[in-house]
Amino acid sequence: ATATASKSKPTPMMEQYLALKQEAGGCLLFYRMGDFFELFFEDAREAANILDIALTSRGEHGGESIPMCGVPVHSAEGYLARLIKAGCRVAIAEQVETPEEAKERARREGRPVSKALVKRDIVRFVTAGTLTEETLLEPRRANLLVALAEVRGTIGIASCDISTGEMVLEECAADMLGAVTARLGASEVVACEGWEHGPDDIIERDRRTFSSDDGEARLKSIHGVATLDGFGSFSRAMLAAAGGLIDYLDHVGRGTLPLLLPPQKRESGQSMLMDEATRSSLEILAAQNGARQGSLIAAIDRCVTGAGARLLADDLGSPLLDRDAIEARLSLVGWLHKDPLNRAALREKLRAIPDLGRALGRLVAGRGSPRDLGQIRDGLADARSVRDMLGALPDQPRLLQDMIPALGGHSALIDLLGRALVPSPPTERSSGGFIAESYDIALDELRAISGNARKAIAAMEARYRDETGISALKIKHNGVLGYFIEVPAKHADALMAPDSGFTHRQTMAGAVRFNSIALHEEATRIAEAGGRALAAEESHFEDLVGAVCGVAREIAATAAALARIDVSAGQAERAAEGGWCRPEIEEDARLDIRGGRHPVVEAALARTDERFVANDCTLAPDNRLWLIGGPNMGGKSTFLRQNALIVLLAQAGGFVPAESASIGLVDRLFSRVGASDNLARGRSTFMVEMVETAAILSQASERSFVILDEVGRGTSTYDGLALAWAVVEAVHSHIGCRCLFATHYHELARLAETCDSLSLHHVRAREWKGDLVLLHELAEGPADRSYGLAVARLAGVPTGVVKRAKQVLDKLEKGRAETGGLAAGLGELPLFAAMAEVEEEAADPVAEKLAELDADSLSPREALDFVYELKRLA
Ligand code: ADP
Repeated sequence: ATATASKSKPTPMMEQYLALKQEAGGCLLFYRMGDFFELFFEDAREAANILDIALTSRGEHGGESIPMCGVPVHSAEGYLARLIKAGCRVAIAEQVETPEEAKERARREGRPVSKALVKRDIVRFVTAGTLTEETLLEPRRANLLVALAEVRGTIGIASCDISTGEMVLEECAADMLGAVTARLGASEVVACEGWEHGPDDIIERDRRTFSSDDGEARLKSIHGVATLDGFGSFSRAMLAAAGGLIDYLDHVGRGTLPLLLPPQKRESGQSMLMDEATRSSLEILAAQNGARQGSLIAAIDRCVTGAGARLLADDLGSPLLDRDAIEARLSLVGWLHKDPLNRAALREKLRAIPDLGRALGRLVAGRGSPRDLGQIRDGLADARSVRDMLGALPDQPRLLQDMIPALGGHSALIDLLGRALVPSPPTERSSGGFIAESYDIALDELRAISGNARKAIAAMEARYRDETGISALKIKHNGVLGYFIEVPAKHADALMAPDSGFTHRQTMAGAVRFNSIALHEEATRIAEAGGRALAAEESHFEDLVGAVCGVAREIAATAAALARIDVSAGQAERAAEGGWCRPEIEEDARLDIRGGRHPVVEAALARTDERFVANDCTLAPDNRLWLIGGPNMGGKSTFLRQNALIVLLAQAGGFVPAESASIGLVDRLFSRVGASDNLARGRSTFMVEMVETAAILSQASERSFVILDEVGRGTSTYDGLALAWAVVEAVHSHIGCRCLFATHYHELARLAETCDSLSLHHVRAREWKGDLVLLHELAEGPADRSYGLAVARLAGVPTGVVKRAKQVLDKLEKGRAETGGLAAGLGELPLFAAMAEVEEEAADPVAEKLAELDADSLSPREALDFVYELKRLA
């Protein structure tokens, strides 16, 4: 009978659970039960799997046992972090009444008190894009939530880092969305149901929440303004995206909105455009394997604060196009660069500053702690001291002058928090102890009462020992009994007497516990005063948070100024370390980099005490496309990338790894790597290569800079050469942008005959005693030969195989010489064939054979064959 009952009707608790689970949407439900969060059904299986914790079961539902797992409340944050990392979203259902209240409610409603169920509600959603907890966030990375909306063919993009409140609105055409989302690198993306413009992994929301009218109205009400004009002029698409974003935040925070600073508008032409392929091939914020190590940012980041590191990542992700804005940043870096002593003192100061922006974010979101208040107090005071220090220095650059006011101010708040808080407030607010002495007289009195009562209890213990003559008598405290008197069992009889003044409470194995009227009185005094003190602290906490939130925007401005100063000081530091230079920013289409270096490769070489060979890159309107040949491993890719990175660093407003650099502003940067380096990608790699190359041909402008590394390599020789040829022609003659093109197709050299702004270059190498020496040095002129076999030998391919390859190669080259070679059909004079002939004439085949001979590896029979072979060659 029980089985059928459970089949037809779930328990009241299960009913409650299922309703909450419904409300949680696609999220895992953390269901609070006492000291645990429990997960059931599929949630339990998934979480147990990800967290590697035990999967058990509890009760039955529909005749089957219910899978269950749980995590302790006090360590829930660590588990949450892992679930979020694994891509889950979590709804937290808390008990919103005590068991007593539940019983009381049942009594009122005339239900059986014994089965009263505690009411639970989802109090919060924890999702990757809406985190504020210090323990769940990476200090040096922004954490973005992005909402996308489409209005009449234009995509609106609202992005927001709720850990600091920064919010940016922008728009783009549908085909540019990929580049924008690649720049943003969001943790979470929301869009309306049925969204089809990508990216793949979005959270779908009701279409109605993406309304531009609602978006506008909510922004106005959040910022208490009658019009948004003061913030910028926002399009319908931007406002619709903002509407969707705010609605999602509202939903996730269950009605409490996090800190949202006034929206900033990002103009589409405001930053250099880089698509996803370019970002990943340049390894700007992450290396190809996804790690920070090996990336550009890892090689240059000298920021001493998390906020600085986040801003630097933002700078590198969106280099500027405005010359004045770039110069403003460069001047600040330059100013800090030439003053190492003050720079060191400044960085020392910055290092100690707490993460103001994130502390503020938590406080506004209603998830702040006394420690966050302390961080605001200390951070603001530190900012003032930074201001005093920098303000006293001469020749302040404009950008700094602009920021000085934001560093100061806040005196009243610093003073208030200084008086109100103890020096290091705790992260836990429920147990009090964070309000400083003499801030509130009433609170001091309450504390004095419990303090006196504690003293009274200590005195009482001594007195009871005297009176009873039991020296082992103790007054103790625990969570269940409160205060009690404890004596060893053998002494208990004396206290058991009815007229002893003690009342029995509990008998333990070796001890007996008692109460007394006097002890009860003091204990009550402590409890009452303690409770009222806690309530007083709680109310001070709310007031202090209110005071902070009232100037949230100003505090955010202080945090932003500190971050900018940290970025600039870090760049100056890096430049000083590496002997970098301040780039000159020009408006024409030149790229004149002398003694340029690749910061990541150089750092890697330095670890093994190898020297990086600096190279020049001098592109100008009449010499804007360089074809670069030379052996594999010769340094072609490195050269290409170093120049792209130097452009990027310069336009991000920093110094660059070169002796000098004069850079004509680049509007779009493209980097492409031939497919065979990308084998892991899955999709037909050649297809990927071509799709990405096609994007360059349709998007690049005359002001763009393109680096192409072995494009065309991912297919057969003929197809590859033909494509590479056509791409070079198109870049040269139709787009007319600056371009570096690395290739191993010698045949492309013939393009120099028809393309007048194209020149030939190669990375130098020398063969010495049969070994290949790579000089990593760029030189003018075509590459003379491919050195493929020498590289193979260098790589440890067995001598026998290399020898055999050499025989095959000789045959091939002979054939090529006779027929005119691969590019024979491309013009009257087969250039490559001519070169091959020259090589053959120059070489003495017998001497070459002998030089290659490894006499020890020959069998007698092979030696004989060898002699025959020499005879034939002679
Ligand atoms: P390629 O593209 O011609 O095959 P890479 O640019 O990948 O060659 O360079 C291969 C290796 O040569 C690099 O990993 C680096 O160790 C070294 N290298 C490249 N450029 C330089 C340089 N300018 N100075 C010193 N070593 C270099």
